[in-house]
Amino acid sequence: TSKVFNNFYRYYSSINKVGVIGGGQMGTGIAQVLSQTAGKNVVIFDSNKAMLDKSLTFISSQLKRQIEKGKIQEQEQFEILKRISFSDNMESLKDSDFVIEAIVENPEIKTQLFKQLNSVLKPTTILASNTSSISITKLASNYQVPENVIGMHFMNPVPVMQLVEVIPGLQTSSETNNITLELAKKMGKTTTMSKDMPGFIANRLLMPYINEAAQALFEGLGTIEDIDTTMKLGCNMPMGPLTLADFIGLDTCLSIMNVLHANLGDKYKPCPLLVRYVEAGRFGKKNGKGFYSYN
Ligand code: NAD
Repeated sequence: TSKVFNNFYRYYSSINKVGVIGGGQMGTGIAQVLSQTAGKNVVIFDSNKAMLDKSLTFISSQLKRQIEKGKIQEQEQFEILKRISFSDNMESLKDSDFVIEAIVENPEIKTQLFKQLNSVLKPTTILASNTSSISITKLASNYQVPENVIGMHFMNPVPVMQLVEVIPGLQTSSETNNITLELAKKMGKTTTMSKDMPGFIANRLLMPYINEAAQALFEGLGTIEDIDTTMKLGCNMPMGPLTLADFIGLDTCLSIMNVLHANLGDKYKPCPLLVRYVEAGRFGKKNGKGFYSYN
């Protein structure tokens, strides 16, 4: 079947509705920028209804702040919100021309989702994954049209960060690649291309650094504040590595380290302290407690 679908010519102009799967911190930001900057109609699907409420509240508060700062008019806020709908039913994705998946960084759960999407999405729909580390080629092998699957790796927070890493899998078509680059551009982003290798470029470099900061803390090299301040003021990093880890989510950091470790060897072994924090349910800023406390 995939050969038949491959004969369709698709263009960026045929992308009218975009589905976002997962209304967590990344999915919420992606949906906001899709509506606000690219002017797309968006549906956010999340299996957890409470996350959808949180997502709407978050986007509304972000837009309210923009009004206060004089960046947008009140009327624009209504229009941006009007283009976004929220659903806990996967069927709501069925008329999407482009779908961006941003659910938890767990290979089994993502694989399961890709299989389920086979019976929901149109055969022409492009399916992009925001995964930080999981093989795009492998995810694509669970989907009926692997030519339509691609990695589209946004950075956190999405409305603020300039970059999107684009990662074609082994079977991704050049058409899928071109439309994805065009969408990223319409979202106001700059793109880089990365090979489909664990962690791509950003996390291949960033996660060992964060893991080493956790290791430094584990070994008592310094306090949390010593480590962060040293890197911030001494190496001109915009924030310390442990603060950054809390922003990203310690669960996400650990999942990425696990993928790097499993695929690239012991050099990438997750720090035991990072493992313990996640076991303790300290996921970082998103649930109030990580290396730091947030209340
Ligand atoms: P998150 O925990 O904030 O959100 C994940 C959301 O997915 C939750 O709302 C959850 O309810 C939902 N979900 C889980 N399983 C689902 C399913 N089967 N169907 C529908 N919804 C489901 O996580 P996040 O930080 O937004 O990360 C999401 C993805 O983005 C991950 O793949 C992560 O690696 C990637 N990413 C994260 C960052 C970051 O800094 N946090 C940066 C770039 C990429």
